[in-house]
Amino acid sequence: MAKIQVKTPIVELDGDEMTRIIWAMIKEKLIRPFLDVNLKYYDLGVQKRDETDDRITTESARAIQHYGVGVKCATITPDAERVVEYKLKKTWPSPNGQIRSILDGTVFRKPILVKNVTPAVRSWKKPIIIGRHAYGDLYRGVELVVDKPGKVEIVYRPAGGPETRLLLHDFKGPGVVMGIHNLEKSIRSFARACITYALSEKLPLWFSAKDTISKTYHAYFKDIFAAEAAAQQAQLEQAGIQYRYMLIDDAAAQMMKQAGGILWALSNYDGDVFSDVVAAGFGSLGMMTSVLVSPDGQYEFEAAHGTVRRHYYEHLKGQPTSTNSVASIFAWTGGIKKRGELDGTPEVTRFGAQIEKAVIACIEAGIVTKDLVPLIEPRPAAHQTTEGFIDAVAARLRDMM
Ligand code: NAP
Ligand code: MG
Repeated sequence: MAKIQVKTPIVELDGDEMTRIIWAMIKEKLIRPFLDVNLKYYDLGVQKRDETDDRITTESARAIQHYGVGVKCATITPDAERVVEYKLKKTWPSPNGQIRSILDGTVFRKPILVKNVTPAVRSWKKPIIIGRHAYGDLYRGVELVVDKPGKVEIVYRPAGGPETRLLLHDFKGPGVVMGIHNLEKSIRSFARACITYALSEKLPLWFSAKDTISKTYHAYFKDIFAAEAAAQQAQLEQAGIQYRYMLIDDAAAQMMKQAGGILWALSNYDGDVFSDVVAAGFGSLGMMTSVLVSPDGQYEFEAAHGTVRRHYYEHLKGQPTSTNSVASIFAWTGGIKKRGELDGTPEVTRFGAQIEKAVIACIEAGIVTKDLVPLIEPRPAAHQTTEGFIDAVAARLRDMM
């Protein structure tokens, strides 16, 4: 069988630990045998980032800007413990955070639903998609430990003055402070990206923040969102889509009673937390996909979970693992489908969709990794190993081709 030709390269960002192992298996068993694709490879494994003083991360984001489509494996965001573990020069910043700030994108996270997994939240029938703002706040914060009494102020010194000073706190004893920021342009493109996504998928759009407490910072987000929704009121109405602003705690409670089929737009940190809640609620972290969409229409696809560290340590001890590769596979298929769409090559898009069908067919036939076993009805007698599952998908895919 001739391989399907992919016109334009796809940028491939490799990663760490268990997901790095899964990543290589997917490429070898599900992609390379079927697809003739030029992969622009960037190794974002933590050791390579350390070796290049993290230049590789910036270069990979630039490559996505250039080629338009990237697929990314999960990566370690090092903390002090990881610095020791991997003998790193320092606690390099989150590669995802950096790529997000370069692409200035919005992250949409969507659970993969299968017929035989009932969500933990009984009312959830359709995907809840999280639109996570991907710039600033905590992820671009500056922090300081205050170890002696003293005043901490925020000073704003605009070109041409006058200066504004705001007392953050008058410390009588030790404590800690943080400064965060965001940009009008970024919030606006976040709001627009969410509205565009809601329109294209015909989903009601919620945006939540805490403007009752954060009367300036969060209110700034709320106002921009409202203005952008108002600017597209006609299109939203025509599509029968309602835009709602809700307080974050209210929305979180309401979400538990909804059937799903909602795009929930959230600020950076809220989106981080709630996408994991939603992923767990729908079944497994291994079943949540994520796409970063830039305002200029560049796309980076990845799994929403991390490097599955605990499983990797088992793997290193020579123990068999049963790690769910579905979200990582869907990172590849998302990239392949988008590449086909942008290149105008429907056979490439079709192939991406075919891999997805093979994955769903396996799960619905009870061929699953360990994380899904307690969720599947009827409960499968056994589970697959990490590699066994990917092999089963490959076998189905070969039958379909
Ligand atoms: P994690 O990789 O998300 O895994 C946490 C736990 O969730 C796992 O131990 C496992 O539970 C379960 N899990 C997650 N993905 C799974 C899968 N595909 N199949 C089966 N079970 C899965 O988080 P972590 O282990 O705490 O973090 C490891 C590293 O990932 C950290 O260094 C962090 O910086 C990084 N991280 C990267 C990204 C990213 O690149 N997008 C995102 C988040 C975290 P059990 O142990 O109970 O089986
Ligand atoms: Mg998270």
